[in-house]
Amino acid sequence: LGAGAFAAALGVKAFLEATKTPGTVVLYGCPGEEGGAAKAFMARDGLWYGLDAALTWHPNDANEVLTGSSNSCIQTQYHFTGVAAHAAGDPDRGRSALDAVELMNVGVQFLREHMSDKARIHYAITDAGGRSPNVVQPRASVLYMVRSNHVAEAVELQKRVDKIAEGAALMTETTFEKKFIDGLADTVTNHALERVLYQNFQELGVPSHTTEELAYADQLSATYPGNDRLPGVGSQYDLDYAEQARALRTKAGHAMNDFLLPLYQGDAFEPGSTDVGDVSWQCPTAQIHVATWPNGCPGHSWQNVSCGRTDIGHKAALHAGKVLAAAAMDLLTQPALLEEAKAEFQRRTVAGYTCPIPADAVPVVAD
Ligand SMILES: [Zn+2]
Repeated sequence: LGAGAFAAALGVKAFLEATKTPGTVVLYGCPGEEGGAAKAFMARDGLWYGLDAALTWHPNDANEVLTGSSNSCIQTQYHFTGVAAHAAGDPDRGRSALDAVELMNVGVQFLREHMSDKARIHYAITDAGGRSPNVVQPRASVLYMVRSNHVAEAVELQKRVDKIAEGAALMTETTFEKKFIDGLADTVTNHALERVLYQNFQELGVPSHTTEELAYADQLSATYPGNDRLPGVGSQYDLDYAEQARALRTKAGHAMNDFLLPLYQGDAFEPGSTDVGDVSWQCPTAQIHVATWPNGCPGHSWQNVSCGRTDIGHKAALHAGKVLAAAAMDLLTQPALLEEAKAEFQRRTVAGYTCPIPADAVPVVAD
């Protein structure tokens, strides 16, 4: 991500200097994209307000312009503290932090029926207190992720999860500490910017691959299930679009999607989360995917990683830089495009940005 964005910024800088076009390009270093949510912390401090537009990319199995929304997400860790005791000799003197974690999880199971359709709650027990059943566990921790399509809803849902933690502590006579990990807003789409990205993607084409690279991709695609999945966000929502994607896949004849998917601007929703969402509530924002690994390659897999250090990965990052830079040049030289993007942004963000990150939170990792 960083290399592609860097390439884009250098391209725009060179363009501004060579053509003496007035304008400013800013490259933001945004660490912790997969847990850490740097862009959301930056949004809490209002960093993205006032930008004309923000453009970015993410590696994927297809070349496409992204559209639609994504889930907002809040991560919180709950550390329960009880009293250790011999589980057979002195159970009455013990207060189990592990019981509190279990009761909290049970409470959340009952909450699931009473939340909105797209909301999701996930958890991981990060500390079960120890390995000895004959000890009343004095400490235990659970990490929660609360997701909802709208960030304001996620913030409300989070409050209900907090109440369940309080209930679990009350029932077990334990105490708990809450540690905020990170929070991300949902994504506000911008069709006007997406069209500018698509036009430039069309003009620049897609990265091409050598016979050797294609053979590597084919071999890699044999190592995971789902390599026949149809690429593209639109394929999940639109039958005609899915047919077009199928035709393009068939024509490609190998595991790399060496083609540009048609522009899709219908309904779309990504159940995962991204800190690009927080940016998109503060300025017009759009994103592309560039094929960085073979078709259907599962996200966050070793196969993804294996492509990152090949020419396939390097080509994708540089190509993303080209498309983003070319789109930015259009935005800098055709004010009407920016006006359209800004008008759409105003319409879509009437509700205003709800920041999921508390004012006093500092970036931390879950332990
Ligand atoms: Zn990512």
